[in-house]
Amino acid sequence: MPRPIEALVHTDALVHNLARARAAAPGARVWAVVKANAYGHGIERAYAGLQSADGFALLDIAEAERLRQLGWRGPILLLEGCFEARDLELCSHLKLWHVIHRNEQIDWLAAHKTRTAQHVYLKMNSGMNRLGFKPNAYRTAWQRLSGLTQVDDITLMTHFSDADGAPGVAQQMAVFEQATRDLPGERSACNSAATLRFARELPAVRADWVRPGIMLYGSSPDYPTHDIEHWELRATMSLRTQVIATQALQPGETTGYGGVFKADAPIRIGVVACGYADGYPRHCPTGTPVLVDGVRTRSVGRVAMDMLAVDLTTLPQATVGSAVTLWGCGPNASVLPVDEVAHAAGTVGYELMCGLAQRVPVSIG
Ligand SMILES: *Cc1c(COP(=O)(O)O)cnc(C)c1O
Repeated sequence: MPRPIEALVHTDALVHNLARARAAAPGARVWAVVKANAYGHGIERAYAGLQSADGFALLDIAEAERLRQLGWRGPILLLEGCFEARDLELCSHLKLWHVIHRNEQIDWLAAHKTRTAQHVYLKMNSGMNRLGFKPNAYRTAWQRLSGLTQVDDITLMTHFSDADGAPGVAQQMAVFEQATRDLPGERSACNSAATLRFARELPAVRADWVRPGIMLYGSSPDYPTHDIEHWELRATMSLRTQVIATQALQPGETTGYGGVFKADAPIRIGVVACGYADGYPRHCPTGTPVLVDGVRTRSVGRVAMDMLAVDLTTLPQATVGSAVTLWGCGPNASVLPVDEVAHAAGTVGYELMCGLAQRVPVSIG
């Protein structure tokens, strides 16, 4: 028997979460963001649940190619655009839309020989200071692009650095609107946080296309302010394994490396087949929530490469073979949102799902 660990991707939950994005941004078209191998879910499996999106946004041309092989004929957007001039060949060949965020990318386009003009997203740096043209350089970039026969459509785009906070979004939107006031073309601004928080009430923020990622994968972009239940999202990934041994500790005894957990009363622990080499964060401290047979308990001691320990004191019936859910859906309709585990480790749901290790078998369920 292989190690009992497995991850499940719930396509029905992907379908549900995509519908939530649509409902949050009425009238807008939806890019399903599937970068980073669909936030760790696998492009193929994510595609199975997200096919009713209006387009797919990602970074890697290989992932775009995979989507075309799967039969997707609609729009695909490269969120960081081309990394070198010859990427434009593949953009023409695969009919990819791509972001333009610096002048060299315009130079490459101007020199690119193509029979079909391309659709580009011109990115403004409205305050994030990562990618994009500053507002005062944006118009010049737009004019250069609109003069090229290689370009047939320019969408105006920006990205929020703090979509959880209303002041940040308002400030960046003011910058974006001011600098694009008389420019034609469609617009796109919202990630998941802005889609959930502002897209319904604010048509200018909603714009023509929203770009949700993390919300599609059942993680709340503004946790712990709001959890997935608040946003009516469903877990799309479950990490499951089993108890492979039990131990009874007497007061003063420790478990695991470093002896960081010391029993102050008799305690029964379960040793669980999951460790940091599976993508479970080593930084999760004692007390991180874990489900055993669908019932919430806590981790104890340090997470090792292949194992971690859980407290079974309140679960007398739990034993070797008991079902353990590290995050996602467990037995009897139990749920442990990935955000809770991420929070305990001082990180975000994105990192846990993207970090699911290669050695964990994944299936659709
Ligand atoms: C990743 C990304 C998104 C999606 O962000 P989420 O927080 O996962 O919703 C949207 N737009 C751009 C440009 C991105 O890089």
